[in-house]
Amino acid sequence: MRYLPIWLDVKDYPCLMVGGGEVASRKSEMLLKAGASLTVVAPTLCKNLQASLERGDIEHRAKHFEADDVQGCRLVVAATDDECANRRVYEAAKSAGVMVNVVDTPELCDYTNGAVVERDPITIAISSGGGAPVLARAIKARLETLIPAAYGQLAALVKSYRKTVKARVPFEHRRSFWEGVLSGPVAEAVLAGQTDRADQLLQQAIDDRVDSPSADGAMGEVYLIGAGPGDPDLLTFKALRLLQQADVVVHDRLIPEAVMNLCRREAERVYVGKLAADHSVPQGEISQLLVDYAKQGLKVARLKGGDSFMFGRGGEEIALLAENAVPFQVVPGVTSASGCGAYAGIPLTHRDHAQACVFVTGHTRDDSLDHLNWPQLAQPRQTVVFYMGLKNIAEICRRLQEEGAPSDRPAAIVEQGTTPAQRVVIGNLTDLPERARKAEVKAPALIMVGDVVLLQQQFAWFEPSHPGASAFRFRHKL
Ligand code: SAH
Repeated sequence: MRYLPIWLDVKDYPCLMVGGGEVASRKSEMLLKAGASLTVVAPTLCKNLQASLERGDIEHRAKHFEADDVQGCRLVVAATDDECANRRVYEAAKSAGVMVNVVDTPELCDYTNGAVVERDPITIAISSGGGAPVLARAIKARLETLIPAAYGQLAALVKSYRKTVKARVPFEHRRSFWEGVLSGPVAEAVLAGQTDRADQLLQQAIDDRVDSPSADGAMGEVYLIGAGPGDPDLLTFKALRLLQQADVVVHDRLIPEAVMNLCRREAERVYVGKLAADHSVPQGEISQLLVDYAKQGLKVARLKGGDSFMFGRGGEEIALLAENAVPFQVVPGVTSASGCGAYAGIPLTHRDHAQACVFVTGHTRDDSLDHLNWPQLAQPRQTVVFYMGLKNIAEICRRLQEEGAPSDRPAAIVEQGTTPAQRVVIGNLTDLPERARKAEVKAPALIMVGDVVLLQQQFAWFEPSHPGASAFRFRHKL
């Protein structure tokens, strides 16, 4: 290890920034965050530093640097664009015994800052020893995705209970106690923004532990997770994190293997997939299954395609959880209309073409589309997206026209959107059913109706690697 990682307390210590430009401003930010008492030496200040001065965050010596400026400082940063001036700062700091950093000049640095991931009070700094700052930043970006934003609050909660736990939980149980807290419902409550509940749960955990140190049988939790339309990269950070914690994963048919591969290897997988007409496990049973697993103290990920609250019966599943007082969280997913629009190059709204977007089901329990508001769906200047509409495509196109939609209103089908097998078939209300039949489009597929569909010719950017897919798409353009 070439450099020693240390966390320096600069709160209220005098620190000096030499330079008044953008770089100096960026470097100042970190010092100010850490509470330094910062003086900037520079003839003029950039806009940001000027604003800091007006807020009273910094002091300003409006002049060129002189060796005396470093007197009494804890550390000095040279951030001018003049190499000679920077070197003079370095030499003055050295002879005064003050730590110095000359920006972007590792050989003139007593210390460097590296790339920083902040989850205050947790701070992670990554150093490449000055050799590969781009790599350090890439690692930072990785960590940013892995560490939930609320970890800071979690650290604060742990800190506020440290003394109590020390007093009440015997030493030999303390470590496993904290491990339980950090990987269980307390941490989850913090990450879900439920700080009062986290507080209660932690208090409860302390009481339980004191009453019976090996207490078990705690209630599990259910995470209703929207897995997005297919591309596993469209999962949210939260979905990924909860998925990797789950003991059991209860999943639908539309969840791609690539998403399933993100579950823990040891997690039990339960398939409850449904085909429109063939409900392999009735809804009531699925909900009961979730309750039963949670009551065994397990963490259950209920994975659903797209977004669970968008034609996903998410509301029905959590109703039974709520009735049984099973804690749950709902994690939104990218709904297929969003995913397919994005990957097909069809903006769902557009100032010139569509001021509204309607998501409609094209399949109902009684298999009748009578109760849809057809006159409204036929209106211009909107995009209408039909989920589960493939089987009824002919009726959908016909009814829209009967209610006054022009026969040449653009319409598209996106099949297996966002996946390598994505196909887009473009047509209009007259010819789309026939085009879909010829193309042998299969579920899952969305029907999109509206002028925005025409933009696809200009905006299609996603070229699936599936060999037949892209050629097919172009053959079926208007
Ligand atoms: N909750 C899901 C929708 C479930 S209903 C969501 O938010 O997307 C199932 C319907 O979603 C399918 O019939 C199809 O119309 C649509 N769908 C789901 N994934 C799709 C995909 N990758 N490409 C096209 N349509 C998709």
